[in-house]
Amino acid sequence: MARYPPDLDRWREAARIAGKARELGLRLAVPGARLADVAEAIEAFIRSEGAAPAFPANLSRNDEAAHFTPAPGDTVTLQDGDLLKVDVGAHLDGAIADTADSVEVGGTHRHDHLIRAAREGRAAGIARVRAGGRVDDVSRAIAEAIRARGLKPIVDLTGHSIERYLLHAGKSIPNVPGMSAETLEEGEVIAIEPFATNGMGSIGNGPFGNILRFRNDPGGSDPALAAMFARFRTLPFTARWVVAPEEKAALERVRRKLQSYPVFVERGHGLVAQAEHTVLVGPTGAEVLSGP
Ligand code: MN
Ligand code: MN
Repeated sequence: MARYPPDLDRWREAARIAGKARELGLRLAVPGARLADVAEAIEAFIRSEGAAPAFPANLSRNDEAAHFTPAPGDTVTLQDGDLLKVDVGAHLDGAIADTADSVEVGGTHRHDHLIRAAREGRAAGIARVRAGGRVDDVSRAIAEAIRARGLKPIVDLTGHSIERYLLHAGKSIPNVPGMSAETLEEGEVIAIEPFATNGMGSIGNGPFGNILRFRNDPGGSDPALAAMFARFRTLPFTARWVVAPEEKAALERVRRKLQSYPVFVERGHGLVAQAEHTVLVGPTGAEVLSGP
């Protein structure tokens, strides 16, 4: 039983926009660039294409694997040699694309093998995607490609199925074998996202990464809150996107009730590279939506 989204072309279009936003972020990652400026340029590009960010631009560096976005007014700049993950999402009426790549800032070329390992893991995993195929085959291919470079896949970060307005829907796509007994279904949209590290191969929680999410609809009794929920729904958002004074005040009132995301930091403080595509599970293979 195929489960293609009825508005498949919207999913393709969201992914095309996300892919271009990812490439823009990679190009802007030069020494001295402010992380906040890079994030805002990515998010503004997505809006200029008629979509909305599906989550704040994630700009995690070095041993940060995921879930960092600059706070309002953040003045931190990129340094020569930083290993930056540019992880971006775009959506059109809840048709979501999620894609990432890694770049070494400046001309140092110390981390090329990490970046290649993540991309090779992604390609190897995507090559195993087909309707009726086992998730475990995808996971095994990812892990083998990363280990072939003498590096470790991060075991506790996974790819995932995507459904309308749900970035992480029911199914996980692990980056190591032996963790999933599920199969892939024709018409599913999934994100394949390996992380390669020279550290321990697992993550722990770091400080708050400035990303929040409504767990459910707050209702209409607080107009400022209702306005925010109308924009963000249950997708992740950040305080950088909340500028009206009454919305800022409402955010502070309910902050403890929202899901908040810590930065994921590699346990051995190893360097981390990530590569991610959103793909459609087809009868004989994957259609890479967020490519190339
Ligand atoms: Mn993802
Ligand atoms: Mn992502």
